[in-house]
Amino acid sequence: MPKTEHWQWYVEESAPTEQHHHAIERVYFEGRSQFQQVAVIGTPVFGKMLILDGDTQSSQGDEKIYHETLVHPAMAGAADRSEVLILGGGEGATLREVLRYSGTKRCTMVDIDGLVVELSKQHLPEWSDGAFDDPRARVIVGDALAFMRDDRDRYGVVISDLTEPLEDSPSNLLFNDGVFRLIKSRLADGGVYVLQASTASFHNYSLHCKMARTLRRHYAHVASFFTYVPAFDTDWAFLACSDRIDLATLGADAVDAYCGALRGDNFFYDSVTHRRLFSLPLYLRRALAATGDTF
Ligand code: SAM
Repeated sequence: MPKTEHWQWYVEESAPTEQHHHAIERVYFEGRSQFQQVAVIGTPVFGKMLILDGDTQSSQGDEKIYHETLVHPAMAGAADRSEVLILGGGEGATLREVLRYSGTKRCTMVDIDGLVVELSKQHLPEWSDGAFDDPRARVIVGDALAFMRDDRDRYGVVISDLTEPLEDSPSNLLFNDGVFRLIKSRLADGGVYVLQASTASFHNYSLHCKMARTLRRHYAHVASFFTYVPAFDTDWAFLACSDRIDLATLGADAVDAYCGALRGDNFFYDSVTHRRLFSLPLYLRRALAATGDTF
């Protein structure tokens, strides 16, 4: 391994005074799409990484931790998994995980950025692992909000795999009370809406709590869950929303039966992991229970 001064570094900030440095072995792509700054790099520890607007989206080394966590608890708890909608999800790994369930008849993925989808096909084929060619996949390049306003279908599972809703991000307009209401109108009875819901790090969970508080207006059950994602170097949180089921209480038998029906083996998620994902530390439970900002 070359000495550190010979490397170029990709530096991600988790706070203005905290940084994680990834050595860059190779740059596959660096440029700007119509919507965001895009980079695909190779690193010694995490392998290939997709970076949008300076934020790591996923890495070859640990993307299964993120994508299995995003997809499978929601799929395991949904009353019907035949029709699934993914908002965002450019790399195709969320699509891959959904389509491992043979009972899913169609999975629609709507990502605004055709360049991210093309670069993922070209440089990150391990992420989608053939999912883009699955006849059950319907991949639409377009704004997820515009799609949902026109679409009249209903989905047993809606998965939001969007970028962080920062001011300049194309995802910003998808995180507000009106859009949460629109998404609910697209859910079938007994359906589950799950979203990547920002960091749950001890110093930076206010956005997560704000999302949870807003979503509680719309659903009987809004369950927070989280896991450490090594490439993000932080705890990452998710929210599972449903009127039928509190996913935190989903039993081991149901999780194992669902996982047993998937094509191939899971890397991260099973009934033991499920318990861990939904076991929140006291500081986060307190923050989620407190009153505060909403969208
Ligand atoms: N794992 C990620 C994270 O931690 O933020 C999210 C992954 S995925 C790459 C995010 C995708 O959301 C991107 O491909 C981006 O193009 C897409 N996206 C952002 N805004 C969107 C919008 N308005 N409609 C559809 N897709 C959008």
